Amino acid sequence: MEGLELPVEPICAHHWQIDPPAGSSSHAVCRKCGEERDFRNSEVEHPYRLQRGRRA
Ligand SMILES: [Zn+2]
Repeated sequence: MEGLELPVEPICAHHWQIDPPAGSSSHAVCRKCGEERDFRNSEVEHPYRLQRGRRA
């Protein structure tokens, strides 16, 4: 038995190129393998603002 090949997907250390945030998520495409993915933006961008600004 020779020529044994398994359909192993190449391991890709994805290099995400993330588009500017649109809404609650950012669309990203891997520059290496072309895989697409959506990254969720943090729901609270500036949590410290809740602590600051207590003094009106
Ligand atoms: Zn990739």
